[in-house]
Amino acid sequence: MSPGQQHVGFLERACANARLPEFAPALERLRLKAEEAFAVRFRMSAGDRGEWGHYYHCREDAGRLMFDWSRPREHRCSVCGRVYTGQRYDACWIGLAHHSMGTGAFHMALCGSLDGREDYIRRVRDILLDYARYYEGWEIHGDIPYNGPGKLFAQTLEEAHWILELGLAFLMLRSSFDAAEEEAVCRGLLRPCADFLIAHKEAQIHNHAVLITSAISLLGFLLEDEEIHRAGLEGEYGLLDQLQRGVLEDGLWYEGVVHYHFYALHPILQYGWAVENTPWDIRGMEPIRRMLDFPLRFIQPDGTFLRRHDATSVVNIGTYAPYYELGLAWFGDARYRAYLRTAYGLEGALPPLSLPGYRPMERDSVFALCFGMNLEAEDGEAMKELRRFVEQPQSSAGSGLTRLPGAEGLHLTVKHGPFGGEHDHMDQLNLSLSAWGIPLLEDAGTVPYAMPLHYGWFKHTFSHNTVAVNGMDQPPADGRRLGFGREAWGSWVCAAVDWKQEDYLLKDCIVLPEELRPWDEPSYQGVELARTCLVRDNWVVDAVKVHLPDRRQADLLLHVDGTLEGTPDLLGEPTEETFCRLDPALFRNPRCLSLEPGAVKPLVWAADKGKLTQYAWCSRPSTLLSAITPGNPAGRRRHTLVRRVEGGGVTVFLHFFHYDAAGSAKCGLQGVIRAELGEDGRLMVEESPLGRIVLAWNGEAPVFG
Ligand SMILES: [Zn+2]
Ligand SMILES: [Zn+2]
Repeated sequence: MSPGQQHVGFLERACANARLPEFAPALERLRLKAEEAFAVRFRMSAGDRGEWGHYYHCREDAGRLMFDWSRPREHRCSVCGRVYTGQRYDACWIGLAHHSMGTGAFHMALCGSLDGREDYIRRVRDILLDYARYYEGWEIHGDIPYNGPGKLFAQTLEEAHWILELGLAFLMLRSSFDAAEEEAVCRGLLRPCADFLIAHKEAQIHNHAVLITSAISLLGFLLEDEEIHRAGLEGEYGLLDQLQRGVLEDGLWYEGVVHYHFYALHPILQYGWAVENTPWDIRGMEPIRRMLDFPLRFIQPDGTFLRRHDATSVVNIGTYAPYYELGLAWFGDARYRAYLRTAYGLEGALPPLSLPGYRPMERDSVFALCFGMNLEAEDGEAMKELRRFVEQPQSSAGSGLTRLPGAEGLHLTVKHGPFGGEHDHMDQLNLSLSAWGIPLLEDAGTVPYAMPLHYGWFKHTFSHNTVAVNGMDQPPADGRRLGFGREAWGSWVCAAVDWKQEDYLLKDCIVLPEELRPWDEPSYQGVELARTCLVRDNWVVDAVKVHLPDRRQADLLLHVDGTLEGTPDLLGEPTEETFCRLDPALFRNPRCLSLEPGAVKPLVWAADKGKLTQYAWCSRPSTLLSAITPGNPAGRRRHTLVRRVEGGGVTVFLHFFHYDAAGSAKCGLQGVIRAELGEDGRLMVEESPLGRIVLAWNGEAPVFG
């Protein structure tokens, strides 16, 4: 039986949903998109050669350039309005045009099927036949770091994106093609594209490899060619292997951030749409379920997800609602329904989950239309569980993340997971602190990759709230969670990392080209770091222990999202001291202050809202370097603090942070910290803003009093 004669499951459901009022917004949006796509009068040609989309940004402010069908040679910045011209931008435009052709074909195919629009169906057929005419002739090109080439695009990855959309469009409409047309599309487009993708499969576990193998699998399915199909699914670095090795225990994709997590999940689900109810059905693949489960536990108190590693945008539960539409249809998990009800702001008998600052999104996605279920039935237990996830501490040793919530929306996240490969920022034990979306010591993620600050600043240890040795980047290593607990007074986590061996979990299955290995192994050889953090009401205590096997320089780095209250001389004198090996121009208004152990005045920082008071202590004489450095988005500034010690052996850096949302904290506070490192390795804090505390780095709970 050809797939053309099979019923296409998602299409049947979409037909039924299209008649229901709750999906009217989704149908409306689909119609708009299909209409837009239908209005396009783009003629593809033999010379088409797409360029990397990351170049399509303003050099001044990182604003995206605006794609305009009517202006293939003029590319205007969406922020400052500057117009860019030239071959590179034109080639980006060509790439974007073809991506739009792919998604446009998908939207027209779906809308055409639902509304019986013959004109849309004919147009999609013409597009596919045009592609079948040109595809083989397009030249292989592209030299993007970390990426294989494309034929139409500059990367194999983009080729995969595009063909997944076209493949699904073809699946929906092929029964309306005559035999010669079907044959032409298979021979001129699907098969050569499959051959090309198979030739450029990546020999690694990576989100790109997931896209490429998902596309190959879909093409194999459409071509009814089992060899191609299995070339996508099976073998080392096939789709199944990606899922098996790339999804960590508890379900986070190893690249460590929801952006890449869902980016990797998306093509798997696209393939899954096509093979639903066939012998290839993927719903039984357990890692898919885990990938949907994991993010539920890491929703922040304002409904966002943590932006870190190579993530550029702020995302929230609404962003990923489409995947939970499909998740609910496939797995019937009541927690997914609770997630969707929250994301869409549906009112019910139960009090909705309170996520201050979150604006519910409209239920208008294609996923909702094709998979949407009735969301009316409230499940009290599922909603309670989701609430627990948001309001209570969460920790995953396997996926390497811990969130500790406090009072006033305070929210601490600590990283302690496996090295995340290309998109990792070499920031083991990094912490991120915010309060209801107000950044305090927040992970900044990164800026668009073509901006100099991406490779020049955000992708380095030094721009994170962790420890750098000799000012260099941390080599790959896996963090370990040693302890985590909820106590009557609050919650805590203890994590560690060391560079005593070169092994790490994904070492043998990821590719890290030489020019993109900025770290320095000799500086870190034998170094051990441990961090114990606790959150109690609106206090955070952060105790970092560094062990250097011989004389080196260790910096505890903090990047405060705020401006200092009081005079700048609180941070010492202007200095010409070197911060690290990164561009000195990154560090504006550098200052330097020499400190004896414990002799630190509290600093008060005015955040976007409220104030953060910082009390610091260090077990040995140190220098405090400070400077104003780039934040994210471009133009935002952070105040970077570098607590620097020289020498070998053990150093402890201790901080207390107090967040006051009302902003009544005043500078000039007294705040003595007296502490002593015991023989047993524990830190006895005799005097502090929170009184006496015993802290350890072996996984034992902190003890107050
Ligand atoms: Zn601009
Ligand atoms: Zn980062």
